[in-house]
Amino acid sequence: MTDFDTLDRADPLGSFRDAFDLPPGIIYLDGNSLGPLPKATRARLADVIDREWGRDLIGSWTRNGWMELPLRVGGKIGRLIGAAPDSTLAGDSTSVNLFKALATALALRPERRVILTEPGNFPTDRYIAEGLAALLGRGHRLREAEAEDLPAALDDQVAVLLLTHVDYRSGRMLDMARLTAAAHAAGALAIWDLSHSAGAVPLAIAADGADFAVGCGYKFLNGGPGAPGYLSIAPRHQDAPAPLAGWMGHADPFAFAPAYRPGAGIARAGVGTPAILGLAALEVGVDLALAADMAAVREKSLRMSGLFLQHAAARLPGFAIATPADPAVRASQVCLRHPRAAAIMQQLAARGIIGDFRPPDVLRFGITPLTLRYAELGEVLAALAEAA
Ligand SMILES: *Cc1c(COP(=O)(O)O)cnc(C)c1O
Repeated sequence: MTDFDTLDRADPLGSFRDAFDLPPGIIYLDGNSLGPLPKATRARLADVIDREWGRDLIGSWTRNGWMELPLRVGGKIGRLIGAAPDSTLAGDSTSVNLFKALATALALRPERRVILTEPGNFPTDRYIAEGLAALLGRGHRLREAEAEDLPAALDDQVAVLLLTHVDYRSGRMLDMARLTAAAHAAGALAIWDLSHSAGAVPLAIAADGADFAVGCGYKFLNGGPGAPGYLSIAPRHQDAPAPLAGWMGHADPFAFAPAYRPGAGIARAGVGTPAILGLAALEVGVDLALAADMAAVREKSLRMSGLFLQHAAARLPGFAIATPADPAVRASQVCLRHPRAAAIMQQLAARGIIGDFRPPDVLRFGITPLTLRYAELGEVLAALAEAA
């Protein structure tokens, strides 16, 4: 039997749990959907509200650095995902950022009409791509191939390879360097959605050659409900025209000039007035992620998911495992299938164990190494054995 308590005592990330406000009696395995509240967020938001907004009012755009906030928080996220310096902007939702990235990429490959993706890609990624194709009215279409068939599906019609790095249902992780290289060899550009990756697995998007990346702020980055997302554009593409030419992407927004003049670098990706409260909360979560050693995060995550899978195989005979056994392609969640998955998740919830049920039969458990204890993992496994 695994001694979960011993693992907790030796855990180099154990102290991070204290930086989060988790209610007693709860085991939280949904941090990959809505990250928990960092304790420092409360004080930071109180300061932004009381002092910056309440007292300094409009002067805060300069005095309290509100204008720089999207670039400052974006820069920190950029470090986390291994982006080139000054190439990431925080703001807007992932969906909107995906629209911007895809519209820019398609304009960079005007002679091509295919957006290649995977059938299992997150719904909003597909909807945005199909909606943009219809809006452009130039015959763009979505082509789908299973992960293993993507390289073969990359022909001279493909403008963009649009992929989510970590599958939101299974937790399977794609090889960013290899697939991006294959896209480039075929003359296509690669856009990566990092929503289930950033803060959970080590990333090096610049070294891996990604052309564009987008992602969420409220999952593993713990930025709070509806936190701003981010857009990262490789420096070589930053001179491309902005598809949403809003005043916050203007070279000099407060000149209020009648003509649009694009800003330099990633600042051009700005659209409207930044959501200051959301960005302030997001920065706290991102700072915590940066304070953690990503190698230790990855090691703990894989050890936890590995233990989960090992115990599930040995002690949970009614469950099918829907997460890759190979740690090289396993991100930071575990998924099981069971015909009574919905009822089982309700039984777990009655014991304070919060996971995710995905119809028709998937139980999903997010592994968040900054907050989850090994002892809690042991309790979840025991509860699953009883519930099935
Ligand atoms: C969570 C998630 C999103 C969410 O997009 P929003 O615009 O923030 O609602 C997008 N893509 C992926 C892959 C996700 O996991």
